[in-house]
Amino acid sequence: MDTGGRDTFRSLLSLLTASIASFPDVRRGANTQYSMHDATLSAFTVFFCQSPSFLAYQRLMEQAEGTNNGKTVFGIHKLPTDNQIRNLLDPVDPQHVQPVYRSIFEYLQRHGVVDSFRDIDNTLLVALDGTQYFFSEAIHCSRCLVAHHRDGRVTYSHTALMPAVVKPGTSQVIALEPEFIHPQDGHDKQDCESRAAERWIRRVGTLYSPLGVTLLGDALYATKPMVRLVEEQELQYIFVAKPKQNKYLYEELEAFEKLGELHELSRTQWTGKKHRRLVYRYANGIPLNDGSDPVQVNWAELTIMDDTGKITFHIGFITSYTVTAQNVEAVVQAGRCRWKIENENINTLKTKGYHFEHNFGHGKDNLSQTLLSLNILAFLFHTVLELQDRRCSLLRETLPRRDIFFQHIAALTQYLCFDSWQHLLLFMLTKLKLDDPYQGPP
Ligand SMILES: [Zn+2]
Repeated sequence: MDTGGRDTFRSLLSLLTASIASFPDVRRGANTQYSMHDATLSAFTVFFCQSPSFLAYQRLMEQAEGTNNGKTVFGIHKLPTDNQIRNLLDPVDPQHVQPVYRSIFEYLQRHGVVDSFRDIDNTLLVALDGTQYFFSEAIHCSRCLVAHHRDGRVTYSHTALMPAVVKPGTSQVIALEPEFIHPQDGHDKQDCESRAAERWIRRVGTLYSPLGVTLLGDALYATKPMVRLVEEQELQYIFVAKPKQNKYLYEELEAFEKLGELHELSRTQWTGKKHRRLVYRYANGIPLNDGSDPVQVNWAELTIMDDTGKITFHIGFITSYTVTAQNVEAVVQAGRCRWKIENENINTLKTKGYHFEHNFGHGKDNLSQTLLSLNILAFLFHTVLELQDRRCSLLRETLPRRDIFFQHIAALTQYLCFDSWQHLLLFMLTKLKLDDPYQGPP
């Protein structure tokens, strides 16, 4: 793998700033472009540094010393107030952030990172998963999903589909552009995850399909319209199938079983403590739905039993792959990789110090969504730096957790002004008595 190396941060930042230049600025007049640049980067730095107080400390440093890390590390010309950030970003549709995701993906393609994520049939596994990231009974905006409850309560929420490239055995995930689930123009009905996924697939399907992509999704995706759409876009899929949601499919499978047409593969595994048995079953060309125009799918399942024969795990999938004794284990392993997105991506955003809306508020229109987009982008920056910047990855390996790495950065940038991101990393390496991976031992 080629390494982008020590220029990675600068490259990523220039992709972000290039994108900001095309953000619409509702105001007219001198220096508006600078202000939009400064407002967007300022919001981004809070997420990147995972520190709600980052901007406040940099404003204090600017007053005391005439310079600050926002300027030297991130290229912010003049630090805006939280209010200015809110007012400038609220009119910006999150769609304007999408090109940054694409240009970072292209950057990762050029540096061989995308290819290193290839898995089943040499494709990229793209996990689709919707997650609610905001809920309130009081605060709301024009993009909120509104729920009227029987007891008269009205609640407001935001949910986003956060697709990511995942790979079995790899802890990092590559975040792709999110799709927001929100009331759509010209539609009476509330939006939902499957409709958002359809929009995302229609928008980017043709972009990603030449690369070879296998979509992963839960049982929500195992429907005729979704399978048709995925096939139309020339993408592969492995979606969870469940007897409750896919009644017709499982009735057909029962008939297959009676005829002895379900294939089976059994494995015994030593867990380090005891033996367990893995039983794979699979079949191809089964109708997913009833009716005149059924969609044909292939099916695979895994049942895990402990040494007493008790079932400890079970999962089933429908897939575009013709399942054979040679690939059934790979199909199931790829399908199960969808859970990585919950562990590595969404949960990191929710629990590992990424701050949603903490100082900028919710906004009237786009703010909540645009901030989330910048927040996921910060997460993507971290992933790329861990993969590509050897100084950064060495520090991350040395410090026990991602949040501790950022606690150190928050504390250091509060007291000291660094010339650049690399200056900051070198300072940390020196103080931790680590050799600079770009220099070798002294
Ligand atoms: Zn809202």
